[in-house]
Amino acid sequence: MKKPPLIWLNLSLFILTFGGAVTLVPWRELTHGFDAVEWLTFVLLAFFSGLSITGGYHRLWSHKTYKANAAVRFFYALGGALALQNSALHWSSDHRVHHKHVDDNDKDPYSAKMGFWYSHIGWMLREYQAHRYHDYSNVRDLQNDAIVMWQHKHYLLLTVLMNIGLPAFLGWLNGDVLSMVLLAGLARLVVVHHCTFFINSLAHIWGSQPYTDKNTARDNPLLAFLTYGEGYHNFHHIFENDYRNGIHWWDYDPTKWLIKSLSWLGMAKDLRKVPQERIESAKLQMQLKRSQHKLAGRKDAEELIEKLQLEYERLKQQLMAYYEAKKELLEARRAHLCVNELLPRVAELKARLKLQQQNWNSLTAACR
Ligand SMILES: [Zn+2]
Ligand SMILES: [Zn+2]
Repeated sequence: MKKPPLIWLNLSLFILTFGGAVTLVPWRELTHGFDAVEWLTFVLLAFFSGLSITGGYHRLWSHKTYKANAAVRFFYALGGALALQNSALHWSSDHRVHHKHVDDNDKDPYSAKMGFWYSHIGWMLREYQAHRYHDYSNVRDLQNDAIVMWQHKHYLLLTVLMNIGLPAFLGWLNGDVLSMVLLAGLARLVVVHHCTFFINSLAHIWGSQPYTDKNTARDNPLLAFLTYGEGYHNFHHIFENDYRNGIHWWDYDPTKWLIKSLSWLGMAKDLRKVPQERIESAKLQMQLKRSQHKLAGRKDAEELIEKLQLEYERLKQQLMAYYEAKKELLEARRAHLCVNELLPRVAELKARLKLQQQNWNSLTAACR
């Protein structure tokens, strides 16, 4: 089959920026060196542009996992131009198609089933699915956002201002324009490009699938570190409306921390969270599926599968009962009602759930 035509603008942009970053930046370091202010600006602009993609383009505009005020959206629009990954409107349109048709080689713009290279960068080098460049029917809601449309209209100018103008100005303040443009402009751009591209490539290839195996998305804490918290991609693909990607407090998810902090400052609101029981039951279902799969072919399989199914149903019931009671308790507390009767019930349900969980763990361990 004939390949679609090359997109020369994208191709030359990626070659020139990457080529420049691996030659000019080391040359400047060897002949001149970079100072602490330049390195600090590199880090700050990396976070500014990266978080504008993950917190703005992704979790705010593509998935509407929360609401943000105009000031926050304006900064995301600037940071998105700094990241040079197309306008928020275009990016969100592509991304919504990615979720809707994940792994479908004909429809998913960056289908991981096409391999690492394609999902990482190859999809942007040729006019694959050319209609994507003018069909914005799946982002009609975003077309009502004046900031999104302003950024879309002036995107080219904004990218030049943010990627060259801003580092040059900061460099002028610091007394060395060229070093700042090379480090905080060029090197930062290339690093953030590839780190965020990893979400489409590596986060669909490398890692675990605790919540679902219906698509290629993976959870990978190491990738979360490189992708501003987006490495918990298996969770994200099943619960895309949750403002978090790393759901445990210890998960590295600076995008989640940013959104939460903005809500404390009154600049973001309506943060959406999937009920914990739905998360737990998705995990449980995967454990059941895996254990059943492992048992296939074993002599005592039938008996064990039956037992497994029974314990699964029991655990799920306990789970629901516990979270239901917990919800009741929370509502009573909110309404300032007396909770003396509810407390022991919740505690008892929690203890029962723990016991059932232990049963389940030893049973699934026996299935290995
Ligand atoms: Zn994905
Ligand atoms: Zn997404």
